[in-house]
Amino acid sequence: MTSCAHYSPYAPPSRSRASAPAPTMWTPDEIAQLCYKHYEIRLPKQGKPEPNREWTLLAAVVKIQFPIYEASDTPDKPVHVTKEVVSMGTGTKCIGQSKMRKSGDILNDSHAEVIARRSFQRYLLYQLQLAATLNKESIFVPGTQRGLWKLRPNLLFVFFSSHTPCGDASIIPMLEFEEQPCCPVIRDQDSSLSLEDSGNVKTPENERKHEDPDGPVTKKMRLEPGTPARFFTNGTAQHGKQDSGSFASGVRGSNLTVERLADVACGAPRSATVVDIYRTGAKCVPGEAEDLRKPGAAYHQVGLLRVKPGRGDRTCSMSCSDKMARWNVLGCQGALLMHFLEEPIYLSAVVIGKCPYSQEVMQRALIGRCQNVLALPKGYGVQELKIQQSDLLFEQSRCAVQTKRADSPGRLVPCGAAISWAAVPEQPLDVTANGFPQGTTKKGIGSLQARSRISKVELFRSFQKLLSSISEDKWPDSLSSACREWEFGRLQKLDTYQEHKEAASAYQEAWSALRKQAFASWIRNPPDYHQFK
Ligand SMILES: [Zn+2]
Repeated sequence: MTSCAHYSPYAPPSRSRASAPAPTMWTPDEIAQLCYKHYEIRLPKQGKPEPNREWTLLAAVVKIQFPIYEASDTPDKPVHVTKEVVSMGTGTKCIGQSKMRKSGDILNDSHAEVIARRSFQRYLLYQLQLAATLNKESIFVPGTQRGLWKLRPNLLFVFFSSHTPCGDASIIPMLEFEEQPCCPVIRDQDSSLSLEDSGNVKTPENERKHEDPDGPVTKKMRLEPGTPARFFTNGTAQHGKQDSGSFASGVRGSNLTVERLADVACGAPRSATVVDIYRTGAKCVPGEAEDLRKPGAAYHQVGLLRVKPGRGDRTCSMSCSDKMARWNVLGCQGALLMHFLEEPIYLSAVVIGKCPYSQEVMQRALIGRCQNVLALPKGYGVQELKIQQSDLLFEQSRCAVQTKRADSPGRLVPCGAAISWAAVPEQPLDVTANGFPQGTTKKGIGSLQARSRISKVELFRSFQKLLSSISEDKWPDSLSSACREWEFGRLQKLDTYQEHKEAASAYQEAWSALRKQAFASWIRNPPDYHQFK
């Protein structure tokens, strides 16, 4: 942890930030409830799953605001905390490599987590506009250097997701408890072993073709509706509520299988045996170790970088587990916004809805893999992200819809649309399908109307709008020095998306350190996909 890391809501305050006033500022159920309500009330019917036939995934960023601790306050004094959803995303799809465009106007990755994060960037850009050009109340206050802003000290952000992120965090051991009077695992030929609710996940049959069909644990299993997920993981009985403990380091990018990991790092309870694992549709990236694809728990290797599955076509998008692990080191604001910020914007906690879940696996996937990354620039650090699970089920999740529809005819399918919502006054909603606003025709592609507000090109446009509304003498050094030097003919003026991203030098330095030390085989889009203006 660096000195400017965010505090956890339960931990003592760091010197540079205000104190967390009470031992508990929220519960996982309160966060889930708030997000489900927001989904129900604020999101339109358009883009939501068709009842009884489709399901989707939900993710959101919740702002927590608390009063600043006064020295005279007693520790048990009640505190008034406000919780507000500031961005939300739904979606299950990811486009393949062949559909990618160099103009930045398509959403490559429409998994709910990624939509919620891009919508959050839209919210942050709006808040910067409020602070920098409109002189209005904002989440940002002036930083110590010219043109830079920082978060108010009494704010933090919690990320909510209705499910465990795809990729490494979804490779969850299934345990059979020997002392369990009624074993909650049931065998069912109609459900999938993959708990990952990804719309592009290949069928379990495809995934399992390399398995020995006569293997001892190749039968499919599923959660009996209403069974607490904890029975299926290597967590302890109360793990859904437990605090995030520290995860044994040294398993990053290892050749460990889940089975061995349970023995080596997590210490599987004596009464339980790992009988199988949930699978992820996300494949290992080239250059990393490969899954063993052996029967049962030895199918996957853990701790590896993975790419999202596409429909037939390979994707270039990293799994949500990988992306969230990256946000926990670089912040979730991205490179462009760092031009205006004194410190990255980190999440303080991640809350997961009711679904198969393992505390240890989440810790490994989101934090453990980067735990030993060193030599990050000032302000950056691997965060002590708090990870918790709620007991509340998202009513449009695959599991909930499956239970409700019982024996309805027809197949249950993932919803093809993605909904983005951001707490901004102008057009907060954005519904897309296949990476473009819903309803976009083939002929319409390339026009201004055919751009999602959270596409790269549109977020870049908002960034440029913000920059042009600030007088040049108030620009941050990272942008004005580049222009000054250009006047003397030494450097070109920043022009393209790529140039603006590269000019965020501390961010790039941090990203390079993270790649070198933990995520060497991260797939990066070729530079010609970032040359648009
Ligand atoms: Zn995902």
